[in-house]
Amino acid sequence: MRLVLVAFAAACSQSSAPAQPGPAPASATPAPAAPAPAPAAAPAPDAPPLPDAAPTAAAVSRPPIVDAPMVWSPERAALTLEYRRRHSAADAADLAIEPTAIVLHYTGGGSAKATRRYFDNPTIEAERAALARAGKVNVSAHFVVDRDGTIYQIQPVTRFARHCIGLNHTAIGVENAGDEATFPLTDAQVEANVQLVRYLVATQPTITRLLGHHEVMGLRGDPIYVELDPAYKNDKGDPGPRFMAKVRAKLTDLGLAGP
Ligand SMILES: [Zn+2]
Repeated sequence: MRLVLVAFAAACSQSSAPAQPGPAPASATPAPAAPAPAPAAAPAPDAPPLPDAAPTAAAVSRPPIVDAPMVWSPERAALTLEYRRRHSAADAADLAIEPTAIVLHYTGGGSAKATRRYFDNPTIEAERAALARAGKVNVSAHFVVDRDGTIYQIQPVTRFARHCIGLNHTAIGVENAGDEATFPLTDAQVEANVQLVRYLVATQPTITRLLGHHEVMGLRGDPIYVELDPAYKNDKGDPGPRFMAKVRAKLTDLGLAGP
């Protein structure tokens, strides 16, 4: 986030969050977006193994992911749904998303822990005026990647999070601690993002697109971009072309679309 440096960590996101007690489900099993008939009981001993992910999943190893769920509460859930109805889908009944894109960000600060703590605030601070006018719920992301490459999962990947105007209804947000100036994104972060994207694509087969936050405003007019308030937009510089080029260079085999 280039423009708003008010709140260091707040960086570039806009979104919501998870469960207080329990660790967030590690992302492996996509939560059904629609109210699917829950396969309640455990399968009988002789039942065939459940297909737990895309066919490619077996070939992709899960990178080390540290569960670090942000504080979740009925208030936050309600504020997030309010935001979703105002900006993405007026008739939304829940916070479930079916991810079709991954958006990479940088936080604008050097501390992943500070960003993680910032996301715990249920409401956005009044000082971030433009964002606060657009909705009370605080920003968040699904993952935060520290400068040493440690990946923290902040909330389930199938939960609507406020991190990217226009794509929150369909995108998983990955924050990286850094700013490309004082804290240039590291090679360890490049590698962690590469591994994380591979894992997410393998386990969430609906994902077909990889974007940098700075590329998203260029998608206005594309069907993937949904923002009910046409005046609500912003220009972001994160994570920048250098980082995106490095990540994409290691993922060409996936054939993910860009902006
Ligand atoms: Zn961003």
